[in-house]
This record gives sequence, structure tokens and C-alpha cells, in this order.
Amino acid sequence: MPIEIKDIVSKKILSEVKGYLDIGFTHSLNPYTGCAFACEYCYVREMPIQKFKDIPWGSWVDVKKNAAENYLREVSLLRRKNKPISIFMSSATDPYQPVEQKANITRSLLEEMDKNPPDSLQIQTRSPLVARDLDILLKLKEKCRIMVSMTIETDREDVKRIFSPYAPGIDLRVKALKKINDAGIHTQVSISPVLPFSPNFANMLQGITDRIWIDTLLIGDGQMGMRSKRLGMPQLFEANGWEKWYEKRIHLKVEKYFKARFPSEIIHVSKNSAYPF
Ligand code: SF4
Repeated sequence: MPIEIKDIVSKKILSEVKGYLDIGFTHSLNPYTGCAFACEYCYVREMPIQKFKDIPWGSWVDVKKNAAENYLREVSLLRRKNKPISIFMSSATDPYQPVEQKANITRSLLEEMDKNPPDSLQIQTRSPLVARDLDILLKLKEKCRIMVSMTIETDREDVKRIFSPYAPGIDLRVKALKKINDAGIHTQVSISPVLPFSPNFANMLQGITDRIWIDTLLIGDGQMGMRSKRLGMPQLFEANGWEKWYEKRIHLKVEKYFKARFPSEIIHVSKNSAYPF
């Protein structure tokens, strides 16, 4: 899909969290607006940021050129007020867009964080490009709590091709997360949203993660399934013969599957979240 990429100057880079992210995070940070990965189930498609656009979700990305400058200014102000800073990056985009390879916006933010660290940082991505920044992550790890969370919704490429054909391949994500985990950075696999997977999925995740997060389209779209319904997800599951994966209690079955294969304390099930995370 051709992508319209635009440089923009944004007023702010940190947003105070509300609702589903209010689980220990104080701020979300989106280095880009828009997302080239264009996941079919993405709840951002249903948000005003896309609703008022005249081009489809997945075909545009705005690059926040002044992200690092804003970060420095905003963090300095928060520190002067003695406020906690626990950052979730990112809530409405992927911080490792394909354009990040050249634009280096996320990298510039990490470099700024290395000089002015938050209290904690969770990076949420579907891209193996995060491993490029391992050098800075290792330095940052000495100064704040840090976790790299990789979304791996399924181990099946045929399923991925239906739901997120433009997102990076599953094997590449697994390899990148292993490299990060092997280097000593705390990692999470985010099965979010749960998509149909093979009985071998757990084997793929052994030795690459310290935590597994499970979320579903019915719990995790921020509107208890209403956004997923408007996006046609029930029909998409049904058209492929996967309706049993769209059941209300699927999170409990997936939890049971993973608890039988990993220490139960590392398995966490979302009660009310938003699934890109
Ligand atoms: S779910 Fe995440 S990676 Fe997928 S399109 Fe939405 S913001 Fe991008």
C-alpha cells in the first residue's frame, strides 16, 4: 500500500493517561501519528484521529520531527513538579514504523531519555526494528525500569496475512525479542488481540519472554467489543471458519493453554485494555 508520509511539528509529545492505560502508566508517547501496519482490527481506525481523515488507515504517517525536543521540555517541567513519569510507547501507533529506519524519531527519544530518564518505559511494538536500539536500551536499563513488549498475536502466518498483512513477519519479531531478552532487557509477549493459533504456539515463545499478556477483541477494544463489531471482526472470523476464536470466554481458554506451558505467575490476562498493547 502506498504511504503518505508527512513531517509535522507537534505541540506536545507526552499525554497523560486515562482509562485503560491507567494501570501504572502516567503518560503515553506516540512518536508518529498514523500507522503503516494497517492491522484490520486496529481500534484506532474507530477514533477521531482517523474518522476525520479522508485517506484510509494504514496509508498515512505523520512524523513528529520535534519529538525529542518536546520530551526534554515536558519531562523537565514534570520533574520540577516532582511528578512520576511512567511512559507507555505507543498507544495509537507503532513506535517502529518503517519510516523510523531513516527518520530516527524513536531513537532520538531514547537518546533523550538516556540523558533525562523517566521512572519507567514500556515499548510496545510489532517491529523487529526495535532491536536496532539495543545499545541505548542497555544504557537506559541502568537508569530506569524498562520493558520491551512485542505483539505476537499468533504463530500462524496464514492468520497474520488475513488480519495484519502489512505488519512485520512473525519469525522476525520472535528473533528480535530473543535478541533483546538474551541481552538482559525485560521482555513481554503481547498476545493482543488473540487470533487463531496452532498447538505449537507456546514452543515458539519459550526462552524469549519474561511475561505474557493476553488480550482479546471482545475485552480489549476499549468498548468491550463494540469497536471490533463495527470493524467487522465477527464476520472476518466467521468467513474463515474461526468463529470459536471469537467467543466471549476465549481469553480463559488461552490463559489455561499458556498456564499449562509457562509458570503461571508470568501469564496476565487483560480485564479491560486496548489490544494494540
Ligand atoms: S494495532 Fe498497532 S500496529 Fe496495528 S495498525 Fe493499529 S497502531 Fe498500528
